[in-house]
Amino acid sequence: MYEQVLDAINLGIVIIDANYKVKEWNRWMEIQSRIDKKDIIDTNIFNHYPNLKSASFMRSCKSVLKFGNYVFFSQKLHKYLFPLMVTGVYSKSFDYMQQSCSMTPLRDNDGNVTNIVITVQNVTENVFLEKSLKAMVLEDGLTGIYNRRYLDKRLEEEFFRFKRTGRSLSLIMLDIDDFKKINDTYGHPFGDTVLKRIAETCMSVTRDSDVLARFGGEEFCLILPESERAGALAFGERLRKAIADLKIPFNKAGKDISLTASLGISVVDSQTESGAALLKEADAALYFSKKNGKNMVKDYTKDCDYEQTNSK
Ligand code: GH3
Ligand code: MG
Ligand code: MG
Repeated sequence: MYEQVLDAINLGIVIIDANYKVKEWNRWMEIQSRIDKKDIIDTNIFNHYPNLKSASFMRSCKSVLKFGNYVFFSQKLHKYLFPLMVTGVYSKSFDYMQQSCSMTPLRDNDGNVTNIVITVQNVTENVFLEKSLKAMVLEDGLTGIYNRRYLDKRLEEEFFRFKRTGRSLSLIMLDIDDFKKINDTYGHPFGDTVLKRIAETCMSVTRDSDVLARFGGEEFCLILPESERAGALAFGERLRKAIADLKIPFNKAGKDISLTASLGISVVDSQTESGAALLKEADAALYFSKKNGKNMVKDYTKDCDYEQTNSK
């Protein structure tokens, strides 16, 4: 009767003895592994799964057999115990079924541990949803780049890295010029297209270590780790030019639209107090660019503060 329960359960159940011989392989395991019970019972588990013989698995077996401990194999740490196939939408995201597993002792009538019961739970869907949720929380829905939430967090992390290592850090804040006019003239959907193209253009000039985020509406930020002032200015100028050179087709009128952006740059120094302070300086430098004709790049200097204070 218990055999039927083992087969009815929506969980993999494997029992191995002290010599790693398989004593139970329930129906769930048969289906997921495509190994029939009759082909695996009384054979050594490592004949079928050689990679299972890892240091951590062997240690866990000893711990169960010798001390009667309960051991858990979390998905976060190990991803999976048995390399089982994933199907459908999940196969794009995972090589194997993500598993949460436990190993518990099975005792004989004298109380001696003779076997290990391994349970295998499929948590692929949970991991997939967790991943998607994380991406949604940190991504901008329109452009697919990082959002403000991620930027703030990452900027503070990079600032601490600078504090720890003394290696430079620059920040660029970019704002599209006269974007309201683009929306008003060509419509909001075209405005959205422009935002996507700007994000792509920024991506195309960044290094892997740079972080690009949509700060808000038509404003973007770039964190440039390891960048000094001269490097950040040169990069900013390259980006400004790439945007000014863009020609975005507006299909309804059969013509290409050009646009420009203004950039503000800030660079850490010993006086910088936080990532947020760096952001404020980049904003002040951006404001300077806007006030001095737009389509330009300005790095933060004290006169940027003057500019902002006097026009408010
Ligand atoms: P400036 O040169 O001084 O930056 O002027 P501007 O017109 O670019 O700036 P302003 O702040 O006046 O206008 C920004 C506009 O961006 C207003 C808002 O409707 C638009 N906007 C914000 N988010 C989106 C979006 O997701 N899609 C579209 N299409 N427009 C957006
Ligand atoms: Mg703006
Ligand atoms: Mg603008």
